[in-house]
Amino acid sequence: MPKPGVIAAVKGFRDVLPDESRQWEALEEAARAMFVRYGFGEIRPPILERTELFARSLGETTDIVEKEMYSFADRDETGVTLRPEATAGVVRACIENGLMHREPEVRLFYLGPMFRRERPQRGRFRQFHQIGAEVLGRDDALADAELLIMLTRYLASVGGKDVALDLNSVGDSACRPAYRERLRQFAQVHLAGLCGDCHRRLERNPLRIFDCKVEGCREIVARAPTVLDALCEDCRVHLEAVRRFLDQEGVAYRMKPGLVRGLDYYSRTAFEIVSSGLGAQNAVGGGGRYDGLVAALGGPRMSGVGFALGLERLAMVVAEPGATDRALAAVVLPLGEEALAPALALATRLRNEGLAVVLEPAGRSLKALLRAADRRGARLAVIVGEDEIRAGRATVRDLVRREDRPQALGLDAPGPELARSVRVLVGAPS
Ligand code: AMP
Repeated sequence: MPKPGVIAAVKGFRDVLPDESRQWEALEEAARAMFVRYGFGEIRPPILERTELFARSLGETTDIVEKEMYSFADRDETGVTLRPEATAGVVRACIENGLMHREPEVRLFYLGPMFRRERPQRGRFRQFHQIGAEVLGRDDALADAELLIMLTRYLASVGGKDVALDLNSVGDSACRPAYRERLRQFAQVHLAGLCGDCHRRLERNPLRIFDCKVEGCREIVARAPTVLDALCEDCRVHLEAVRRFLDQEGVAYRMKPGLVRGLDYYSRTAFEIVSSGLGAQNAVGGGGRYDGLVAALGGPRMSGVGFALGLERLAMVVAEPGATDRALAAVVLPLGEEALAPALALATRLRNEGLAVVLEPAGRSLKALLRAADRRGARLAVIVGEDEIRAGRATVRDLVRREDRPQALGLDAPGPELARSVRVLVGAPS
């Protein structure tokens, strides 16, 4: 609890501090590098959209639209919402900018914050961040498989631990209605054992009983007829082709007939990335094929497939960055006021060459300055005192090896030469 008079962040909204954001930056950079290899370009849609976009795309009866959106009337009374997910915005942007008319297919990825008013707990926040990708204009199994190959390669490249891919098909408009009816009939027989929420789900969208977290419901649902047995020929062929491509590329997955995405617009392929290391909120990401969404938002008949990964949860399941990764190259320590100007000049020349350098203020003993430099996590301390100014060379102390280095830095040396020396000293590639 903050002290009286201190303003705390809003519940469920958190600060990402430098140690964590360094890790996020690495995850984001790795995503950009990987997705570009698969022909994706980055889109940065706005965070605020018209409320009707989500009501129409996610469906009025989903938890998100019913109770989790940050929606409000703008000053001109337009109903607006902080985006709870990005697929709807990406599809809107494609339609509005005519992207699908420029290329035979659209391949986009995005990174950024999403907002859902859920109950905060470990791994669940009200502002969270997603990395996601969408392919529009492809209805073939190869598109699904390639997306999953890219996703699993990405997870492997960032060192994802204990992550698994769960796969299912949720059928399409040809076979799902009959399956939904079969499920409803099954649930009617077990109605007494199902919770109130499930009773409501049965009326509106029976498939969503698979999402119920109540133990009694889960036991009943485990015995329900599965959608895999009810797939029509086209959906079965599609699923088999996806699996064949994944097998060929050595992508491991588990078939999970109970995996039904909560959102109404999904069809055929549905998948989730889960990690055993996460506890209750074990999903790192998920996605699937959506064949009706583009048309539902006023665009052409066009199918899509995509995924979204939660960055907070991803950060929890990837290997910690090495503790010896010292981001700062050097801390410059001026011993006394007269050392300030040459110390600043030295720091400026190193920074101009792309090195991360911090300059300590003057007025402390060398011992205190070295302690401060060490706390900053720098590799080198560059000392500028009376002796150094007289000799025209700064003393370099290696903070990891805890010894002075014989290579002194010339106080009047040009930037590139100084930077080269520092890079050699920290063992970084020049
Ligand atoms: P969804 O859009 O619901 O399929 O979520 C995709 C991924 O986003 C999930 O697997 C989580 O990793 C992440 N995610 C969703 N909601 C939250 C939340 N409230 N807090 C943190 N991460 C979330």
